[in-house]
Amino acid sequence: MKKIVAILLTVCMMLSAAAALADTLTMGTNASFPPYEYYEDEKIVGIDAEVAAAIAEKLGMELKIEDMDFNAIIPAVQEGKIDFGMAGMTVTEERLQSVKFSETYATGVQVIIVKEDSPITSLDDLAAEGATWKVGVQNATTGDIYCTGDFGEERVEKYNVGADAVEALKTGKVDCVVIDNEPAKAFVEKNEGLKILDTTYAVEDYAIAVKMDNDELLEKINKALTELIEDGTVKAIIEKYIPAE
Ligand code: GLN
Repeated sequence: MKKIVAILLTVCMMLSAAAALADTLTMGTNASFPPYEYYEDEKIVGIDAEVAAAIAEKLGMELKIEDMDFNAIIPAVQEGKIDFGMAGMTVTEERLQSVKFSETYATGVQVIIVKEDSPITSLDDLAAEGATWKVGVQNATTGDIYCTGDFGEERVEKYNVGADAVEALKTGKVDCVVIDNEPAKAFVEKNEGLKILDTTYAVEDYAIAVKMDNDELLEKINKALTELIEDGTVKAIIEKYIPAE
């Protein structure tokens, strides 16, 4: 009898483990993009992590977050290795050829970080005829795409994470860094002697990337996200990480 109970218990545990597995929603991100995603001790936290957790909760699923290079996220979505990508990711025409995007949940602005005493004071200085300033960017981001297009491949240095681009600015390997405004603020706060120019390079919408043919998941995410936007949850999460100035 004891044996039967033990076997039954084992079977039950296996079944519930399988059920839990099936109910996992896997998000791919690049956790070096504060305040959207970054590590606090061993844990990935931030606006995207919390909004994703709220979506998963609404869907009755368990959220799992996988950290990867930014330029690996869209291929991982396409290959079905992850269910969705969420990484302060800008909706662009080019990306829309590879994935579908959810409703947007935040706005990003591409800004320019320079050393406090930099002769670069505006986007015009960077784009000026004959200018040779080197620009640091995070590989495959919109900052990379715009700068490479506007200033040419030879003036753009690509780094795997934003923090490395900022490090290159500090050591004089590049003359400025083009990156999204919120991570820019976080980097400037952490590093002495840097400032953000009062000039906007581009304004963009952030959204969640889902596999092209997975309309079922896209619809579920959109429904949950819309509810979370309407009931103020998304706003509260954003304000928790980005206190109003
Ligand atoms: N918003 C930018 C992009 O989508 C940067 C995102 C990121 O570095 N995580 O390209």
